[in-house]
Amino acid sequence: MRSPTRYRRRVATVSSDLLRTQAYVGGQWIDADDGRSFPVVNPSTRETIADVPRLGAAETRRAVEAADQALPAWRAWSAKERAAVLRRLASLAAEREGELATLMVLEQGKPMAEARTEVAYALSFYEWFAEEAKRLDGAIVPSPWPDKRILVTREPVGVTAGITPWNFPSAMVTRKSAPALAVGCTMVLKPAEQTPLSALALAALAAEAGVPPGVFSVVTGDATDAPVIGAELTSNPRVRKLGFTGSTEVGKLLMRQCAEQVMKVSLELGGNAPFIVFDDADLEVAVTAAMVCKFRNSGQTCISANRMLVQEGIYDDFLARLTDAVGRLEVGDGFAEGVQVGPLIDEPAVTKVEAHVGDALELGAEVVTGNGRIDGQFYSPSILVDVTPEMRMSREETFGPVAAIARFATEDEAVRIANATPYGLAAYYMTTDLGRTWRVGEALEYGILGVNTGLISTEVAPFGGVKESGIGREGSSYGTDDWTELKYWAVGGLAPAH
Ligand code: NAP
Repeated sequence: MRSPTRYRRRVATVSSDLLRTQAYVGGQWIDADDGRSFPVVNPSTRETIADVPRLGAAETRRAVEAADQALPAWRAWSAKERAAVLRRLASLAAEREGELATLMVLEQGKPMAEARTEVAYALSFYEWFAEEAKRLDGAIVPSPWPDKRILVTREPVGVTAGITPWNFPSAMVTRKSAPALAVGCTMVLKPAEQTPLSALALAALAAEAGVPPGVFSVVTGDATDAPVIGAELTSNPRVRKLGFTGSTEVGKLLMRQCAEQVMKVSLELGGNAPFIVFDDADLEVAVTAAMVCKFRNSGQTCISANRMLVQEGIYDDFLARLTDAVGRLEVGDGFAEGVQVGPLIDEPAVTKVEAHVGDALELGAEVVTGNGRIDGQFYSPSILVDVTPEMRMSREETFGPVAAIARFATEDEAVRIANATPYGLAAYYMTTDLGRTWRVGEALEYGILGVNTGLISTEVAPFGGVKESGIGREGSSYGTDDWTELKYWAVGGLAPAH
């Protein structure tokens, strides 16, 4: 394992205008009213990087009021003007890519190369929605009445709230805020306890790009503050929509809270992705896809392959190749050269992986490669075989670098196992058979399919799940739908002159 780099040297490479340790509310950098703060911890070294304010209901309310005050002017800007600001923001983020990636490695732990990829993915939403803002259209519908015309226009929802997780500290912020701001909404965003620094850096760049005060605020807090901030955001009548990415459990709770005032919600929740390798798969393609979609971000992604189902005829060859590839993975500090697998986000995350592996071994699974926890929050990339549907790792997201493999005989069996979950975010399958490509794709109850690939995230495609994986889609030309309302106009009094 590559040893942790001392964090101080790295912090020094981020300029003070991006390393923000105050919350950003109504265009002001603020401390908590009571002065409380919480530490942001480097998961690799367990050292404190910065202390960030613990905001509560009062500061959140002020952020919402600022968003409400900023709304009329912001929505009155032309789409072209808003687009220009977002494009500027994308350029600034691109110029500061190295610093944004450094902050991300520090607070989240992912390898530098992955952090750079995430920054590029994150700023692609500013670029994309800068363009989409200009293409929001409505409709003129043929009227059934001779004296009336029917129009449909699109309007921004209004003041919105965003709540984001720690696994993609920048991309989840921009995937929500870019479409919201592009169509003329304002937003109060609460990042995860573990990764507020990336969100605050983006707020600083937004201000520099010309986003007016109050249009985008970031309220920070630790895990005990989250329910307080969340309660204010979901009960304040000025807030008209919540965009949430996180666990299904918290998503359900927030949806119940939003129901009280019938607030619009879009929810990007947990997954339990199947990764199916059929006998006719191209082995090299299958192994490459499995590696990227299982071990990226140390397995801490909502679209990570959680259950690998491998058909009997290809099973031994696939397992041998995968074992070889996993054995060559370099684990260590995200700044160390060549590292592919960083630490897990915190101690509970490691404990959860250990519990899933322990449960599987007790119920009959076997370890093919991997040595459990290496040190601190680093977990050895592992493969388990003979994993069955009743094991915890088949039913819940393991969120760690552990591939869980099961053998299957027929296509029907694979599809049945794949669909036997309340989740429906991403599914992957590897096949070279054209008929099977369509049959299986149409049978899988998922929002996203990766066919012969493990890399599916792009700003041009609609990201989102079905069943308990969520509601709504982010990115793509559909990505503005959830941040706009349709308004129907019946324009009468147009009877033709006799
Ligand atoms: P989480 O525990 O649900 O937290 C997500 C966010 O919700 C954090 O900002 C958290 O704040 C906040 N939160 C927690 N309890 C809250 C409450 N009662 N009221 C308001 N906010 C509350 O999820 P996580 O562990 O950070 O992220 C991992 C999960 O996200 C996984 O299930 C993963 O699959 C899912 N995810 C889904 C997608 C997708 O696009 N579908 C993408 C990425 C991740 P604190 O951090 O302060 O507690």
